Amino acid sequence: MSSLINCPECNHEILSRLGTVCPECGYTVGYFNGDKKRKIYGKFFALTVFVPFISFITILFASQNKYSMYVGIAFFFYLAIKSCPLLFKDIFLTKFEKVFFWGIWIIANSLIFSMIFNVLRKGFEG
Ligand SMILES: [Zn+2]
Repeated sequence: MSSLINCPECNHEILSRLGTVCPECGYTVGYFNGDKKRKIYGKFFALTVFVPFISFITILFASQNKYSMYVGIAFFFYLAIKSCPLLFKDIFLTKFEKVFFWGIWIIANSLIFSMIFNVLRKGFEG
């Protein structure tokens, strides 16, 4: 699993394994900055936290008005698809990571979906 990468500080070839210390400059490989996969993984990790939050806020504001609600729903679907773990399946190294991200994605998006459903069911005032 440990491949070689170039040290981001001095370009010396080092192992991508977590905790590897570069013998040239002392750079330590962290969880998110090892190989390329780990970098994408770090971005994806942030994505799973922020996307449901952004969707939630969008729907909250969009629910004031029918037309902005349609835009909000479209935005929600766009973000849900963009953050779907299916697109990132290559970066999961362990089964736990896979289950963890699918769990977050399903729970967060079904919560927002039920929120959208409630807004649509109640209709719009005014
Ligand atoms: Zn180095």
